[in-house]
Amino acid sequence: MKNILLLGATGSIGKSVLSVINENKSKLNLFGISLNNNINEATKIINELEPSFIYIEDNAALEDFINHNQSKDIIHLNGDKELKDLINHQEVDIIISAISGFAGLKATHLAASSGKKILLANKESIVTGGDLILPLAKENNSEIIPIDSEHNAIFQCLSGEKGIEDVQKITITASGGPFINKKLSDLKDVTKSDALNHPNWKMGSKISIDSATLVNKCLELIEAIYLFDLDEKYFDLVVHPQSIIHSIVTYVDGSSICQLSKPDMRIPIAHALSDENRLTIDFNTLDFTKLELSFQEFPRDRIEIQDIAREVCNKGGLLGTIFNAANEIAVESFLSEQIKFVEIYEVIYRTFDKCNLSNDLSLETINEADMLTRIEAQKVVKSLV
Ligand code: NDP
Ligand code: MG
Repeated sequence: MKNILLLGATGSIGKSVLSVINENKSKLNLFGISLNNNINEATKIINELEPSFIYIEDNAALEDFINHNQSKDIIHLNGDKELKDLINHQEVDIIISAISGFAGLKATHLAASSGKKILLANKESIVTGGDLILPLAKENNSEIIPIDSEHNAIFQCLSGEKGIEDVQKITITASGGPFINKKLSDLKDVTKSDALNHPNWKMGSKISIDSATLVNKCLELIEAIYLFDLDEKYFDLVVHPQSIIHSIVTYVDGSSICQLSKPDMRIPIAHALSDENRLTIDFNTLDFTKLELSFQEFPRDRIEIQDIAREVCNKGGLLGTIFNAANEIAVESFLSEQIKFVEIYEVIYRTFDKCNLSNDLSLETINEADMLTRIEAQKVVKSLV
């Protein structure tokens, strides 16, 4: 039996993880959960899977939880020290990092030094803190397995191979999002609900907007250079509208290996949760006789955003934090209907040009750069409204 600590249990990835656990209760036990403030969803999870611990980030939500759940046999936690203790609890075997956005960095960083297996969904923690997290995980024997579908596909295509030096190229696929085949100039008046309406995946709102802007693919490029320890030049970003091939590894001898499945996050999660044997889940099979797979170039009118991501990969330091924070503010401002969809790019470009920070890297400097960038990005938002 493996004990799982699910960070971000009430979100979209959290739900997919719970579904895999539910189908494999003889092998997987939900030991603990964390969330920000969604007590209703947390209560449903507790009633169904009876975890021993709940960590609640938001203080008011914690009080609310305590008031309504006095009879429940669960230990509630809050604050950095208790989060650290939970992550390091000797009974935890697997930590799932599925908090959304920069808020996930703190927990992923703590998990990296725990010596436990980490299933990583929170790409923003690698984009901002990859230079700290990867070495820390290596030093402490904390194995990181990606569950972002593209990175999990690459991970599967690389496993059993002789070495990363045999890789010639890696192709990361992108669905193209809800505005596939639309020019940037056609997107001036798209609404929040248009942008949230992803054709292939049901996801949290932040990543859904990232997918519509293609910033998600840019974050994934940065995530990939850290997870696979390869230069950005090895990676191509290609649109694949069907979301069936989740990424492709091409080897120096000309063979390309890819991973295929219907778009369903339970599949990479089940792979990452497996041991020697794969876990069984109920999935929709692919009818190969009906498959039509196509590929398109990354849209040329969005190439500037990819160029910024490649600059982040090449220069490192705090640039990932600046890129990420500018994007988070831009997405929040779009979701609160302060700016238009196309202005998300403007907020990122103008903030990225303005922020110029030192390369002295630590958790403190990352947090400071995040805060300063958010202030700059807010100024750009104000100038647009
Ligand atoms: P959601 O918005 O659906 O869920 C976010 C989760 O994080 C919720 O449980 C939320 O709690 C929790 N959370 C937010 N802030 C905090 C905080 N400060 N402390 C503790 N918990 C917090 O996001 P997704 O599930 O869509 O995405 C999660 C991560 O996985 C993201 O990094 C995303 O990029 C990545 N990912 C997601 C995919 C998907 O299919 N959804 C695919 C690939 C990667 P509460 O509910 O209380 O607010
Ligand atoms: Mg992905």
